[in-house]
Amino acid sequence: MTSKNDTLFARAQTSTPGGVNSPVRAFRSVGGTPRFITRAEGPYFWDADDKRYIDYIGSWGPAIVGHTHPAVVKAVQDAAARGLSFGAPTEAEIEMAEEICRILPSVEQVRLVSSGTEAGMSALRLARGATGRDKIIKFEGCYHGHADSLLVKAGSGLLTFGNPTSAGVPEDFAKHTLVLDYNNPQQLEDTFAKLGKEIACVIVEPVAGNMNLVRATPEFLQTMRRLCTQHGAVLIFDEVMCGFRVGLGGAQKLYGITPDLTVMGKVIGGGMPVAAFGGRKDLMKFLAPLGSVYQAGTLSGNPVAVAAGMATLKLIQQPGFYESLTAQTGKLAQGLTAAAKDAGVTFCADSVGGMFGLYFADSVPGSYAEIMKGDKEKFNVFFHAMLDLGVYLAPSAFEAGFVSAAHDDTVINATVDAARKAFTAVR
Ligand code: PMP
Repeated sequence: MTSKNDTLFARAQTSTPGGVNSPVRAFRSVGGTPRFITRAEGPYFWDADDKRYIDYIGSWGPAIVGHTHPAVVKAVQDAAARGLSFGAPTEAEIEMAEEICRILPSVEQVRLVSSGTEAGMSALRLARGATGRDKIIKFEGCYHGHADSLLVKAGSGLLTFGNPTSAGVPEDFAKHTLVLDYNNPQQLEDTFAKLGKEIACVIVEPVAGNMNLVRATPEFLQTMRRLCTQHGAVLIFDEVMCGFRVGLGGAQKLYGITPDLTVMGKVIGGGMPVAAFGGRKDLMKFLAPLGSVYQAGTLSGNPVAVAAGMATLKLIQQPGFYESLTAQTGKLAQGLTAAAKDAGVTFCADSVGGMFGLYFADSVPGSYAEIMKGDKEKFNVFFHAMLDLGVYLAPSAFEAGFVSAAHDDTVINATVDAARKAFTAVR
């Protein structure tokens, strides 16, 4: 019997490039047919054949309270009934801004936008506008959305400027982006010693989730904080993924480091298009309409999206929310590690708060280069075995995974049971 997913995928490819609206959804890395999702509830979603999966992508982070949480759905329904979009300010936007500033002490002012890409791009422009400098530093393996300046990989040597990772990005843009190694504080020191006066900002995922999960070392983040302060550069934490995910206060709370600007997304929209950037008031005042850095959006602060975000922000502040999320994610990582060991498969796992990494390697990687040494073929076999058994992992060896508050012991145990079988296939 043909799967409806196959039929839909074939049909989608006629009207949409590659059949998807965001590349990783196409399963190019793992092969096979993407599942077309029809509905979701709690820790599960269902595909076009009505097959149920335990979902470990959670919309790539937003679904932290579990899918279709009644409080979030009701907030969205109520807001929708009052109007979908006004293009004029609302009180709900003030409440959301106040809530974010309260949760993140480094954020004195915040502006709401609709995607992480938009937030990252705007934070970059703000840093450049405020410092009057053009050059930026990013790190290999970090993703900050698809703004031109950020689709850049390392040049041929240290202190050479970057090359575009996408066609359509002019070399002239990429040449302002320096790409350094994650978790290499010495390289940062050398770069600032040479180019400190020209650097507008350093942007980093303080817990990286876009090359699989990689934790920053405290020394790496402390060095970057010190160098930015010394040289008048803006430190931007991109917490689109790790914010409100590794803990309520994000990575900045976890590491005790105060960035100048923070980029947010995913969880703060609860599955609707809300992202934000914010930070020091003396930087935020450079933004239009107060200052000369332009930034705007027809749907920014959209009332329905903000309603979903606020409902989610309320739920994640319930007592014990992150303790439980962290414990469940830890149980998953430990359970998978034990299952792999029993099956004799070289594997390890790590987790921080509600995000996790799976590595077909003998130790947890600390950089992009180490991540690249992992066994991608084994991951792909494992991914498909798990998918057949009703567990949906990120369809790439280079993505982190996400647990929600709805992933209770029954769900985690079912996942580990499936993994016992899947690891046998890998071996
Ligand atoms: N920054 C980080 C750290 C991300 O993980 C992502 C998306 N995965 C983005 C920025 C871009 O966000 P969006 O997809 O909403 O544009």
